[in-house]
Amino acid sequence: MKRLTAEDLKARMTTYINTTYRLDVKEATEEEVFYALAAVVNEQVKPLWDKTNERYKSEQTRQVYYLSMEFLIGRLIESNLLNLGMLKEANQALQELGFQAEDVFTVEQDAALGNGGLGRLAACFLDSLASLNYPGHGYGIRYRYGLFEQRIIHGNQVELPDYWLKKPYPWEVRREEEACVVQFQGIVRMHQRRNGSLEINHEHTDKVLAVPYDVPVIGYENETVNTLRLWSAEPVSGAPDNSGDQEEFYHHLDFEHSIEQLSGFLYPDDSSYEGKELRLKQQYFLVSASVQNMIKQFKKNYRLSSKHFPEKIVIQINDTHPSLSIPELMRILMDEEDLGWDEAWEITTRVFAYTNHTTLSEALETWPIAMMQKLLPRIYMIIDEINERFCQGIWFDHKEKRDKIPELAIIADEQVHMARLAIVASFSVNGVANIHTEILKKKEMKEFHELYPERFNNKTNGITHRRWLMQVNPKLTSLIQDIIGDQWVKRPKQLISLLRFQHDKDVLEQFAKVKNENKLALANFIHQQMGITVDDQSIFDVQIKRLHEYKRQLLNVFHIIYLYNELKENPNLDMTPRTFIFGAKAAPSYHLAKEVIKLINTVASIVNYDKDTKGKLKVIFLENYNVSLAEKIIPAAEISEQISTASKEASGTGNMKFMMNGALTMGTMDGANVEIYDLVGEENMFIFGLRAEEVLDYYQHGGYHARDIYNKDDRVRRILDQLNNGEFGTHDIEFKDIYYNILYHNDPYFVLKDFEPYIEAHEYAESVYRDKMKWQRMSLINIAHSGKFSSDRTIQEYVNDIWKINPT
Ligand SMILES: *Cc1c(COP(=O)(O)O)cnc(C)c1O
Repeated sequence: MKRLTAEDLKARMTTYINTTYRLDVKEATEEEVFYALAAVVNEQVKPLWDKTNERYKSEQTRQVYYLSMEFLIGRLIESNLLNLGMLKEANQALQELGFQAEDVFTVEQDAALGNGGLGRLAACFLDSLASLNYPGHGYGIRYRYGLFEQRIIHGNQVELPDYWLKKPYPWEVRREEEACVVQFQGIVRMHQRRNGSLEINHEHTDKVLAVPYDVPVIGYENETVNTLRLWSAEPVSGAPDNSGDQEEFYHHLDFEHSIEQLSGFLYPDDSSYEGKELRLKQQYFLVSASVQNMIKQFKKNYRLSSKHFPEKIVIQINDTHPSLSIPELMRILMDEEDLGWDEAWEITTRVFAYTNHTTLSEALETWPIAMMQKLLPRIYMIIDEINERFCQGIWFDHKEKRDKIPELAIIADEQVHMARLAIVASFSVNGVANIHTEILKKKEMKEFHELYPERFNNKTNGITHRRWLMQVNPKLTSLIQDIIGDQWVKRPKQLISLLRFQHDKDVLEQFAKVKNENKLALANFIHQQMGITVDDQSIFDVQIKRLHEYKRQLLNVFHIIYLYNELKENPNLDMTPRTFIFGAKAAPSYHLAKEVIKLINTVASIVNYDKDTKGKLKVIFLENYNVSLAEKIIPAAEISEQISTASKEASGTGNMKFMMNGALTMGTMDGANVEIYDLVGEENMFIFGLRAEEVLDYYQHGGYHARDIYNKDDRVRRILDQLNNGEFGTHDIEFKDIYYNILYHNDPYFVLKDFEPYIEAHEYAESVYRDKMKWQRMSLINIAHSGKFSSDRTIQEYVNDIWKINPT
């Protein structure tokens, strides 16, 4: 495939604009130029996409399907250009046509079909699969409304709908010929055939048409283009004619509306679970359409009987959200392919692999039996039978575990427990960082681990270094290339060669220069967004992630209030200036999380305008945190706040993005922070606070009393009293809930317990920052070790240990 030069790009875009809009390029808007550029990209992609599909078909390739309710892809224009080897050329072409590349790229709306880490992981995995030439595709939902847009009004989060499809989305292709019907409700009738087998008839169902929209997933400079297939819900037949009964007509409209709700919006809860019926419908809609589609393609392309399904297909389920795919495959094999239970079960349990993302109890999915029975009667019957056989198996073959049946059973206390279903039916169960997998094995899923030790394995998360280094930080990328060449682009572990330069003052200066330029760019962005000037010589200390109690944005705010109080006492305090940067969305129904957002903004409004803190403290809350905002902030960060209560953050991936861009981690020994620590050592990051075992021990045996710390530590008492007495509020009811949560609910996330060590870690970080060369050396060492966290490594491990697929 010939790569296009800047000249080629200019010529093709010009032609497109002339013919499509009948305009001279000079007269075209950024929007028109964006669509022209996307069209040129699509022209390049089309033949590669077709060829990739033909190759998989003709070689009868074994393929992996990544099933996920979320794909947080963000914008694609730049990453598509990068992977096609044309990003620099496109930048040049746009400039020569008289446009700012950035203004053209930002015409594209972020595809925010995910909440946070879990959805972003799915997007990184697709990029790595394609870039490593693996046959692997995503199945998801084409939500008409993605994650809400956040505005901050008077310090409060306000949610606006994210209608991201208002303008045409240039990367998707509607594939009506691949549509299929998904059925809900109805009556299941069984009758015995002459030969004794059962025939299942599922009648009087509500039918929904699932129409796929395909998005190409372009590999990095390798001509592989895989597919992300996103399902949209539509009425099965066209609209009725409007000539007849009015009532009938409106009833029908109502019905169509309720169908379209199925792919209407993304649930905005991250790491928490809501037992809403519409969410259950969405889950079944995704898995039924996807599994039907896999079987259809398998039969068409491979011409094998369903017995051979596990040889050609492996399905990875991203958390339990798509775990109804298990009974759905059983249903198809038995009811449509006429296999018996044992054969169907044998096939099913060789196909599924399950990734667990959390041990937070509030995030574990369970569905009320009654809801599932009504909505999915046949699926419920199958789960019931899986459960029955599983429990019998324990009763007869694992007598020592008989008394554990209530905590192992898939159906118990009127609920269907989805994680248990996923474990029982999968040949692989993985956690997402070493510490998380160990907690699963030893605590959360101990009983299952004892039953099936061979199923449990770890796959530490990763991020695509193509987007999160090469695309977002071109200056750092080209500096690294100048110093160690570009082998690391294909083998990110080679970044380790940077270590040779850790004592090279000249090199360290160059890294410092790049960071400063990135900081200046972010400072300009902040000024333009918020009208606030930040000191580009101050320490950029960043915490961007979903707002959740366990992530402890509150600990960060307490530190800021502490510094503020210190400065008020002593305005001449010798202190390196700091800029604290936040970005975070709270689930709309998460009251305490919203209070923390309000608190951050309130503290910002006080600190930013106080003469005693002038030039020393700034607090910035950037609204609407999403992938594109992360891309702007991360290259400029110096301190990466990864301060979750130990044992709570399964892995984290933000931590990896920061490390790869040279920020130093201020963190607890949690999730993948532990693995960063294993690589760079404690001398190259700032570790503080309770360890996971200590936290788990407190939860189990008690012994922590937040009130004691309040009583003993003046700094802590001062801060809490400020929250309680209205010093940070326009009226004194504000922030009382935070105060009560800490003192009357005994600080469930150990904010007070970790306060002092956190302050000390920050004091140490400040002292290191004064030694510029030392800081730069630490930063370089972090970048050098960050190759491990490329999702290419993660995907290679999934391939070797779970998927057993071959590159093409
Ligand atoms: C990487 C990323 C996340 C995950 O961040 P954590 O710090 O690991 O929670 C969430 N949202 C967006 C937009 C991201 O890019």
